[in-house]
Amino acid sequence: MPDRPLLEAHGVTKVYRMGEIDVVALRGVDFQLHDGELVALLGASGSGKSTLLNILGGLDVPTDGEVHYGGEDLTHADDDLLTVYRREHVGFVFQFYNLIPSLTARENVALVTDIAVDPLEPDVALDLVGLGARFDHFPSQLSGGEQQRVAIARAMAKRPQVLLCDEPTGALDYQTGRVVLEVLERVNAELGTATAIITHNAPIAGIAHRIVTMSGGLIARAETNPRRQHAAELAW
Ligand code: ADP
Ligand code: MG
Repeated sequence: MPDRPLLEAHGVTKVYRMGEIDVVALRGVDFQLHDGELVALLGASGSGKSTLLNILGGLDVPTDGEVHYGGEDLTHADDDLLTVYRREHVGFVFQFYNLIPSLTARENVALVTDIAVDPLEPDVALDLVGLGARFDHFPSQLSGGEQQRVAIARAMAKRPQVLLCDEPTGALDYQTGRVVLEVLERVNAELGTATAIITHNAPIAGIAHRIVTMSGGLIARAETNPRRQHAAELAW
């Protein structure tokens, strides 16, 4: 693994001001994501996982501290650099798939590939997630797991260096969730995309190279996973 992380947070703090009350979501977090790495982010609800992921992806800005991508400081970057980072280098997958209901699977993916620099063809991206036969289906004709796989195809079609997933199996039953994890594992292995997956389901973290546990806005533990399992072998 290279010495310099692809993406890193240094002393990241996030305070949300809610009227008179300050909600401290992150309290000085240091986090690294290396090229090709698959990291699981575990922690109880409210521990700051989504806040950290959003800041790493340039969707939110820290109150204090810095985020570096490929050695560049994103925190003090102008809006253009942050937009390029978000548009070209980062893919997002959320718990709810956010597909456009009136567009087919292929058209949902094409929305992203139309503005990307060197994208995968939508059909290739859909093949990657095992949905080759469902190009022309609308979201309402697909199961939750299939819709999530379209969302992964959409995120991957721009060939991002970083894939950030916030509870990607949170709305899915066990079997379906496992298939989605198999897809994320395959994308990480085949395309070498550095991937962070938030889950509060500890067994899911078994597929990661490294497991980072958050608690109260801090990293409580970060350890390599010596007994890495394939998603297909997981039981939870
Ligand atoms: P997790 O993803 O681990 O459940 P979050 O990062 O969503 O945790 O939230 C961490 C803390 O920050 C929680 O106390 C939450 O209520 C608060 N928080 C998150 N987003 C906001 C926001 N936009 N405004 C105010 N408070 C927020
Ligand atoms: Mg969350």
